[in-house]
Formats: sequence, C-alpha cells, structure tokens
Amino acid sequence: MADFHSELKPLPAPSERGDGCKVYIETYGCQMNVYDTQAIGGLLERDGFVSARDFFEADVVLLNTCSVRELAEHKIISRVGEIRRQRRNADLPAVTIGICGCMAERLGPELRKGANRVDLVVGVDSYDKLPGMLLELETRNGTRRHRVATGHRSDAHYVAPPESYPVNNSHLVTIHKGCDYKCTYCIVPYTRGPQSEKSPDDIMAEIRMLVDAGGEEVTLLGQNVTAYNWRGGLDFAALLEQVATIEGLRRIRFLTGHPRDMHPHTMDAIGALEKVCPWLHLPIQAGSNRILKRMKRLYKREEYLQMVRYARRVIPDVTFSTDIIVGFPGETEEDFQATLEVIREVKYDQIFSFKYSERPGVPAAKLADDVPLEVKKRRLAEVIALQEEIWSGMARELVGKTFRGIVEGPARHQDGFWRVRTANNRKFVVDGSDHAPWILRGIIFLVLLVGLVYFFVANAGQVVDINFFGKQFLEVSIYWVVVVCFAIGFAASFLLAAMREFRFRRTISGLKKTLAAKDREIHDLRTMPLRKDEPGRGKSGDDKPLEGKAEGGA
Ligand code: SAM
Ligand code: SF4
Repeated sequence: MADFHSELKPLPAPSERGDGCKVYIETYGCQMNVYDTQAIGGLLERDGFVSARDFFEADVVLLNTCSVRELAEHKIISRVGEIRRQRRNADLPAVTIGICGCMAERLGPELRKGANRVDLVVGVDSYDKLPGMLLELETRNGTRRHRVATGHRSDAHYVAPPESYPVNNSHLVTIHKGCDYKCTYCIVPYTRGPQSEKSPDDIMAEIRMLVDAGGEEVTLLGQNVTAYNWRGGLDFAALLEQVATIEGLRRIRFLTGHPRDMHPHTMDAIGALEKVCPWLHLPIQAGSNRILKRMKRLYKREEYLQMVRYARRVIPDVTFSTDIIVGFPGETEEDFQATLEVIREVKYDQIFSFKYSERPGVPAAKLADDVPLEVKKRRLAEVIALQEEIWSGMARELVGKTFRGIVEGPARHQDGFWRVRTANNRKFVVDGSDHAPWILRGIIFLVLLVGLVYFFVANAGQVVDINFFGKQFLEVSIYWVVVVCFAIGFAASFLLAAMREFRFRRTISGLKKTLAAKDREIHDLRTMPLRKDEPGRGKSGDDKPLEGKAEGGA
C-alpha cells in the first residue's frame, strides 16, 4: 500500500501575487495559541504564503496544538488521520501536515513516527523558522526533508499583524510567555518554557499599532499576567497604568491572573483605572488547603477568599471567573466539598472545570492517579450543576437592570439579534432590529395628523401675512403654512431616522466585515475550541471547552 508521505507533491512556491503556496492553520487550546496562530499567519504572509479557507484547498495544513490534557493530544493525532482521509475521499492529493505549539514542543521527533506521522514539527519558540522550513521541504535532490524545530529561546516574542487581531472585538496582545511556577499537575512550564517578558516598549508599540488600525479594546495575555515584571522595575499594575494612557484605547482586559500575584496594589490599580475592565479570571483549582498544597499553588483558600473580598471592595462591579480541577490525586470527598464551598461563597460568573488528567513528566505524575474516573465525572457534574444553580439566581437578580455594553457581532442562534458584552464580561443578546424608533415615529405622525385636522377645522378660511423687516413678504392661506410646516417637520424626522439607520447599518456592516476578515485570517474559529462562547477568552491551554464547562452568562 502506498505510503502517504511518498505521495507528497512538491509545494507551490510562495508568491507576492497572492497565488502562492496556500496554508491552512487550525487552532486548539488557549488564547495564547490563538495569538500565536495569528503571528504564524503574519510570518507566512510576509514571505509570500497565502492563507487557505479550509484544508481542502490548502497545500500545507498546520495544527496549532495544546498539551494541557491527554485528550487534547489524542484529538490532534486523530485529526491528522481525519484530514488525510477526507482529502483522499475528495480525490485530492496528499497534503503536507505540520504540528505546531505545545504538542510539538513536548513530543518533538515522536510526532514523526507512527501511522499518523506528520511532515513538520515546530515548537512554540521556533515559528520564525517555519517559512524557511517549508521552503526547504522542496530542495535536496527532490527529497522531502521532514523537519523538527523545538527548544526554548527567551527572545522569541512574536507580534501578530493588527488586521488579524480581533477576537470578540478584543485584540490579543501577549505580554509574556512561559511560566516560572511549577504547579504539580501542569505541563505548561515544560512546553512553554520559563517566563519571559515582552518589553513594555514593545507592548505599548503593539497596542498603539492596533489602535491606529481602528482597535479599541485589548486583552493582555499570558499564563500569569499578574506575575509580569520587567527587569524588576515595572510590575503588572504599572504596566496597566502605562497601557491606560494610550489615547483611543477604550477597554483593557487581561488573562490569566495567578491568585498569588493578585496583590492589593494591583487590585487598587484595576479599580482606579477606568479603562481596565472589572473582570478577574482567577483560577482557584481546588478549595481544600491540603490539595492546594499538593498542587503547589502557593496560596491558601483563606488568602484567596480574602483577595476576592478585597477586590469587591476596591473594584466597582467586579465579576469573577475561575478554573477548577476535580479528582486531583488524593482528593477525598471532604476536599471536594471544600471546593463546592468556595464556589458557593465566591459566586463566580463562570467556571471552567476539568477532570484531572495525568501528564507525563510533571511532579504529580509520581502520585497515584487514585480518584476513579466515575468519581471524577460525578464531581465534575456536581460542579456544573452547582454553578448553574448559582448563576441562575444571579441572573434573576439582574432582571430589570440596565447595562452598557459593546455589540460584538450577530447572535449565534437568533436572526436580527446581537451579542453584547459588558465591561465586566457579562454577555447579553439584544434585539437589534431597531423597532422602537419606528413605533415612536408612528405615534408622532398620528399626533401631528390629529392636530392638523383639528387646526383646519378650527381656522378654516384664515389668511396669514408673512413680514420681513416690516415689509409684507407673502400673504398665504393658513392651510399652506400648516402644510409647509408639517412637511418640513416630517422631512426632518425622516432625515434623522435615515441617518440613524445609516449609522446603525454602517456599524453592523463594519462588524460583519471584521468577522468575515477574522474568519478568513484565523481560518477556523468555529472549530477552534475556545473556552468561552467566546468570550473566547479561552485564555489558558484548553482542548475541550465543553468538557465540564460550567458557566454563567447572561
Ligand atoms: N496559568 C493559569 C493558572 O495559574 O491557573 C492556568 C493555565 S493552565 C494552562 C489552564 C487550566 O488548565 C488550568 O487552570 C487548569 O484548571 C487546567 N489544567 C492544567 N493542567 C491540567 C491537568 N493536568 N489536568 C486537568 N486540568 C488541567
Ligand atoms: Fe504555570 Fe498556571 Fe500551569 Fe501553574 S497552572 S504551572 S501557574 S501555567
């Protein structure tokens, strides 16, 4: 049987005319990966590669991957087989497939073995090598050279081009990469390497660039943005203060904050800076101090709760979301109840909950994964049910209140409706069909009509003198005066309505264009498993957003 790899045809050359080698990128996991995908797209486009709409029309398919849970990795391996199968069924030639991101970093050359082996493996700090690697695949006596590029570099900071930024109206900007904590369950410090900051100057320049391109909102991204520290001199609170000075920028969000680094002065800054959105995503992971210690989370439940109380005092309208892992090694029923207690006490808007998944090589892998799968599933279901109950109570309290928000795009399931997000990250669906002004105009029209008829009947036969500077200008029947006034009023009201309608449609068509561009450039946001409906925040490594997704959302 023919080996798929030997069937590969040479890649078309990149071209400045836009008809060169077509690349399709599929993104899995967190917002960091979404940003990286945009950066990869930018690097490839700069070198004459073109983005493909789907893997059918692509010459190269790249999967930007996540390693946080085992299932995420299995899904990627089967996705490679599925892409090849679907292309074969469509009578298309074999395609070059590459794996980028955390899986590439973790598994490296392993991904070049087995039935679903890939042609290219590119880790998180090697994206700048990607265009060259693709070009080189052609050379050397016509033999394809399968390539692997991994390993960490502290200088590998990428900048995505501004036109491909918006995700739910927000422009992603990574402020640092990697992580220096070693939570015992987590693979990220190994796949993403040590924490390394983008310089404040580079961050400011990147945000100014996207504001110049029309952006109004940024989401500052990192595994632990609250741990941002530029050469010991500028911390996260100071960075927020700097970013808030950028003219034209209206909203600043950030993901993810580590509770240990959410200092009172950082919360003071968030509360004081009008542009910084009052929404804190602070993963607690577990409510029992015993488990937090085994996870090496470096805070206690009491400290976390104290931080939440402080934030509520100093940040007006603040809302919270969190991540929770159930079934960590050694988690007893009592430990789990402690997690439910925290959920009851904090009242999160949203919870992303996951069954513990053992990752090779991390410290927790030395502990027995002793919570049976059935128990993990039951605990996950309990977290979801409790969160749903809490959120529906919170949502009921919001009924009848008025909120200010930004329209982010058409609602997914209701025609004529729009998705709106408030500063504190609550999402609403509103009727965008603009009925009210027409009803109001109808009422005004009726009142005018009744007044007009009454006026005619009451003043029949009268004549009006119109004088300018003491001279008679016109002598007309009262009928004409009324008709002309009425016509002017009606024309003005119509003009106003038309302008309003035009503005509304322009906003909406602008939004549609943004969404269409986003679809083209990020390739496949619909299949990308973001963690929030978006608020696609999907901040941290995440393969399967619906797994145990317990969220509140209006
Ligand atoms: N830096 C963030 C923090 O400190 O909380 C989290 C980043 S992590 C990539 C995203 C989320 O994935 C974590 O908050 C955790 O809930 C979940 N996660 C990480 N490792 C996991 C594992 N081995 N099993 C299950 N969930 C895991
Ligand atoms: Fe770092 Fe967050 Fe992973 Fe802990 S959970 S090691 S803080 S990325």
